[in-house]
Amino acid sequence: MQVLSVASEAYPLIKTGGLADVVGALPGALAAEGVSVRVLLPGYPAVMAALGAAETLWASANLFGAPAQVLSGHARGLDVLVLDAPHLFARTGNPYVGPDGRDWADNPVRFAALARVGAWIAGGALSGWQPDVVHVHDWQAALLPAYLHYDGAARRPGTVITVHNLAFQGQFAAGLLPTIGLPPWSFSMAGVEYYGDIGFLKAGLRFADRITTVSPTYAAEIRMPEAGMGLDGLLRERAAVVSGILNGIDEAVWDPAHDHLLAAPYDAAHLGARAQNREALQAHLNLAPDPEAPIFGVISRLTWQKGMDLLLESLPAILESGGQLAVLGAGEAELESGLRAAMAEHPGRIGCLIGYNEGLAHVIQAGADALLVPSRFEPCGLTQLCALRYGCVPVVARTGGLADTIIDASPMALSAGVATGVQFAPATSDMLSAAIRRAARLYRDPVAWQRLQRNGMAADVSWRDPARQYAALFRELAG
Ligand code: ADP
Repeated sequence: MQVLSVASEAYPLIKTGGLADVVGALPGALAAEGVSVRVLLPGYPAVMAALGAAETLWASANLFGAPAQVLSGHARGLDVLVLDAPHLFARTGNPYVGPDGRDWADNPVRFAALARVGAWIAGGALSGWQPDVVHVHDWQAALLPAYLHYDGAARRPGTVITVHNLAFQGQFAAGLLPTIGLPPWSFSMAGVEYYGDIGFLKAGLRFADRITTVSPTYAAEIRMPEAGMGLDGLLRERAAVVSGILNGIDEAVWDPAHDHLLAAPYDAAHLGARAQNREALQAHLNLAPDPEAPIFGVISRLTWQKGMDLLLESLPAILESGGQLAVLGAGEAELESGLRAAMAEHPGRIGCLIGYNEGLAHVIQAGADALLVPSRFEPCGLTQLCALRYGCVPVVARTGGLADTIIDASPMALSAGVATGVQFAPATSDMLSAAIRRAARLYRDPVAWQRLQRNGMAADVSWRDPARQYAALFRELAG
């Protein structure tokens, strides 16, 4: 079984969020299921630099305006095909945004090119290799099934689109249609047209053979108007091919036993090293070295989706509970400055690092007592899965993948020995504050708290089961 996976980011080569974690981890997990995956990625500088000896498998003198080639090779454990198109991708930094903080103006052309070339590969453009199934991720790769459809190739692989976040849809001006090589007749409701524009994600949802999203609850939510973001009608129409497969986490990357960044090895059996990790975290973020205070951690994009405004409004609940807050994140300027101001106002109680820092993400998972994830919507969420594995108790909004992966510490779930965290709904600052207070009370009951930690650590957050589900889906499609 040969799969072509097409995406705009893949850990450890280039990452802005959970999408990269999934695209980077699935090939390894699927190998155990007898599925071999090649990942087609844009040739950003970071990807080109990581690519070892490479072979040119395909070349064009003019891909949307300039020469391009497809290189095949290995990069940091991944079997990759790299679309080397310097006019589109030879730009350092964030893959989507320029130095001025705005999306690159040619993003529709850049990612249409990725999908265009992916569709040629799917249709057999590489001599000696054609995938049985193509797996595309999010709007950046979503035009691929549309290109395949309009190419009308005699033999085409099955296609799966995975939606990692329906909020990012890739909606661009209709005038781009000829530039990106789609025929005029593709511009209809039954094609790529979306509210008078071209909808990249819409096209993927229209033409892919199967649609998956990253949790069963989100798969149900996006078929309703409240979470469907304009695409719920199409998703209802295609409900028979929509399903949810939860994400896992890469257990080698998120390994509490061998996390080289920690002050001491983490003792899974006795939760013993947590005390040292807490001290390391407190020192790192200038928090008071208080052994009693529950430390609430946050590792998140600082956005409305992630409920970071609710977090700011709920600071009194943390402070009144005698807790501390350790935040790692970057995002909207207003939220960043709100957190900086809170840190200045409560030195020793609130510590923030505004920015992106993988090392600190591990230290927070290993040292914080609870992890706050107050998302308004959350397709799956990865940080709560890492938290489970590290014995850091998740406090989450009951939505999407957060609803599917955390079992609330209700009295019944506690006595049955299955609770793994605290859930609240709806996502409001009042409910978040109440959840924080409930978590702080639980924290002061060491028996209950350790039970939560142990249950979480015993949960299977690996890719094993999700990979089996993807493999079954791919086999079904390949016939
Ligand atoms: P998203 O919606 O951002 O993809 P997920 O929870 O699915 O949310 O995945 C987020 C991933 O990005 C996790 O691996 C998390 O550890 C990481 N992450 C988020 N913000 C930061 C940051 N500021 N520094 C380092 N890692 C981060």
